[in-house]
Amino acid sequence: MYDSIVVHYGEIGTKGKNRSFFEKKLVENLRWSLKNKFVSVKRIYGRIIIEIDQSTSINEVKENLGNVFGITNFSFAVKTSFDIEEIKKNALILIPEKAKSFRIKATRSNKTFKYSSSEINNILGEYILKNKNIKVDLENPDATIYVEITESNAFIYNEKVKSLGGLPVGVSGKVVSLISGGIDSPVSSFFMMKRGCSVVYVHFFNSTINTKQSLEKVINLVNILSKYQFKTKLYLVPFENIQKEIIKEVNSKYRMIIYKRFMLMIAEKILENEKALAIITGDAVASVASQTLENLDVIYKAVKKPILSPLIGFDKEEIIQIAKKLGTFQISILPYGDCCSYLISEHPATRSNLNEILNFEKKLNIHILSNEAIKKAIVKKFIN
Ligand code: ATP
Ligand code: MG
Repeated sequence: MYDSIVVHYGEIGTKGKNRSFFEKKLVENLRWSLKNKFVSVKRIYGRIIIEIDQSTSINEVKENLGNVFGITNFSFAVKTSFDIEEIKKNALILIPEKAKSFRIKATRSNKTFKYSSSEINNILGEYILKNKNIKVDLENPDATIYVEITESNAFIYNEKVKSLGGLPVGVSGKVVSLISGGIDSPVSSFFMMKRGCSVVYVHFFNSTINTKQSLEKVINLVNILSKYQFKTKLYLVPFENIQKEIIKEVNSKYRMIIYKRFMLMIAEKILENEKALAIITGDAVASVASQTLENLDVIYKAVKKPILSPLIGFDKEEIIQIAKKLGTFQISILPYGDCCSYLISEHPATRSNLNEILNFEKKLNIHILSNEAIKKAIVKKFIN
């Protein structure tokens, strides 16, 4: 029955002269998400119209569009001419069989159309009352029939599917996200994509404690996250040589801090190669010893580029709820060897001092160790 999808976006409509850039990106993202399930994707003032074949699976398309950031809602619609008789007939067809009450919600961006929105509401309302045993209910109807009069056509539909919101992935530039295999970092990457960033993932592993399963776990997490962007890259960076050197030189109380600083320094090198703009972590204030504000200060000073932590003010329970919705939670809770806790003190320092840390680091050959690790990194690509 449906031949079109009307896509509405909120925030990108307010971006001034960037608007056309945002809309083009959204069109591009819609095209890859739908693969070959569309006839055309076109921008028309303030909305995007996807033309579909009537045999297209509605459920598949719903699932695809549900992963595209930048959409506020979308509707499967019937496209008609401006002929009011044709609009009436289709409005009637779109009333679900079981509905006992209805309302019409017309909008008109084409001011040359001969009826106003409230006139359309009245004309269609009367026609439906005449042709069906049903009541009008403006407050809480069983069915709402939406009519949009655009510059080129009328679109009629009976459902608005709520979407992710946010901004189209790619409009805000690229970031490098540290992903651990825990609960938090996948959620934090999701939030960056929601704000229009494309994400490159970096994971550090120590093969003396990380089994093949733990790498598979991270790959599975990235695979879930990869459905929100066209192409995804994951760097799996071997960390054992660096950790061995750190363990030789650094008191166990401070090792965790230096592990984390190394992770950031390596991530910053990857950021430069990738022409990315910021580093993302899953840190939340004071959730564990390494994430006191004092330690975050010392850890974040390892690099010059901005470090963004979208979960910084979240409670663990809130993060878990989102991870469950994303489908990452069940994977994140599988056991794995966390290289950050490799041979560290039972009571890591909760307040570290930058000078002390820098003195330890002087004994380490940071650049050589980091470059070697990057050279040995395994790069996995996911294409949607
Ligand atoms: P998560 O649930 O994301 O693991 P967490 O609360 O367990 O977070 P940590 O394990 O201390 O806290 O990690 C804090 C952040 O450091 C992570 O969110 C992630 O961004 C980064 N990180 C930790 N371990 C790794 C790793 N092995 N590889 C890449 N990044 C890591
Ligand atoms: Mg963790």
